[in-house]
Amino acid sequence: MRIASAKGFPPPTGEDRSRSDQVGAARLGEQQPHADRPAAPTRSPLRSDHPPRTGEGEDSLDLAHIDTWVFDLDDTLYPPEQGVMALVQGRINAFMVDAVGLPADEARVLQKQFLNEHGTTLAGLMANYAVDADKFLREVHDVPLDSLEPSPRMADALARLPGRRFVLTNGARCHASRVMERIGITDLFDGVFAIEDMDLTPKPAPSTFRRFVQRFGIDPHRAVFFEDTPRNLAPAKAMGMTTVLIGEGRGHELGDWIDATAPDLLSFLEPLPLRDAA
Ligand SMILES: [Mg+2]
Repeated sequence: MRIASAKGFPPPTGEDRSRSDQVGAARLGEQQPHADRPAAPTRSPLRSDHPPRTGEGEDSLDLAHIDTWVFDLDDTLYPPEQGVMALVQGRINAFMVDAVGLPADEARVLQKQFLNEHGTTLAGLMANYAVDADKFLREVHDVPLDSLEPSPRMADALARLPGRRFVLTNGARCHASRVMERIGITDLFDGVFAIEDMDLTPKPAPSTFRRFVQRFGIDPHRAVFFEDTPRNLAPAKAMGMTTVLIGEGRGHELGDWIDATAPDLLSFLEPLPLRDAA
């Protein structure tokens, strides 16, 4: 079975990169490159000889061997335009001000520094301050989900996928549970692997991916992973998974560890000729 993915994207512009670095890099769950990240994905971005495949024509993505479907949660299983992560970022900013005792602008600078030096805001806080990780996760995720739209279309698209389905998120369990319930997809998944399951060591740490596949008995070579953060796809690819970037990557580094791209998850899943696999 040959399956065509959705259309790809033009390379991000310098302006896009600047804007996304200001906003996107501070989001919970977006990590800086991890110390034990595999070496393969560190090649320069957007090399003309190794662009991410778009699934069009000869580059169509073969998913015939896939029996496990793995999804990031935030900005992957629902569109970023619905604003959930913007609310979470606001909570992170507020938590930082309380935790470090600095004015908001200085706390914001420090939060970006934590991201660069420790991979996550929480990891930086834990290394430098006496912080309650559970309190952090609870407070930053305690946002209203009114803007998040229930999606029967997403439920239908997920339900027709052959095999098991999992969520792999750097967010907290309670957040994943609330978001999935709101979208209407809770019962469609065989498991959720959240930050608590990672011992607070988030994607893209390869050890976290190893722990994930061991927990659920997943053969990486028969799994496909959908993510909106490009670097989180790298260790998945290194393990043998097929990788699909959802969205344009917000200006972050892209490379040949990305097998296909799609502007949004529905545009990738809905056209899949899955009846052939039944
Ligand atoms: Mg995400």
